[in-house]
Order: sequence, then C-alpha cells, then structure tokens
Amino acid sequence: MKIMAGMNCPRCDHSMTPAFAHAAATIPYVTPEQILKFAHVSGDVHQVPLWKRFLPHAAEYFVTHLCGECGIYIIDIKHTLSSAEAKELAQILTR
Ligand SMILES: [Zn+2]
Repeated sequence: MKIMAGMNCPRCDHSMTPAFAHAAATIPYVTPEQILKFAHVSGDVHQVPLWKRFLPHAAEYFVTHLCGECGIYIIDIKHTLSSAEAKELAQILTR
C-alpha cells in the first residue's frame, strides 16, 4: 500500500489532517453547468455520484485531507483503500 504522506493546504500552506471518507457516502458534487440548469428549479440540485464516474468498481474508502485553518477538504477519489488498508493506515496515523 502506498502510504499517503502528510500534505500542505494548497490555499494557505498549513499542514492538513489526513482522514477517510466512506466510498458509499454521497459526495456533494455539482458542476457549474448543473447549477445553471437546475439551481433555479429547486433548492435540491441533483447530486452526481462522483466516484461512479471515475471508479468502475467502488472501493471502500477514500483518503481525505482537511485543513483546519481555512477549511479546504480534499477527497482523493483515485486512491482508494480496502477496510484492511484503511485500518493499517489509521494505525500509522494515530501512532
Ligand atoms: Zn488551508
């Protein structure tokens, strides 16, 4: 498993906190085109299951990075982990 090293925030350069997002969770993702087409119809804009566009076989966990300073939250949708890999990484991150 490729261990994700800590990364700095692309906006403010503070160190980001690594975490996980379950791949089965709905990721709010709306394109500018969808906003223009649907945002005036109702408050509920259609949510696209982002991972289905990029991942033919849904993996279990995405690695994420949160900047506690400015609030940027990065979800790495191309690098996924099984439960066992996520636990292994979590143990390393909590040492
Ligand atoms: Zn930041």
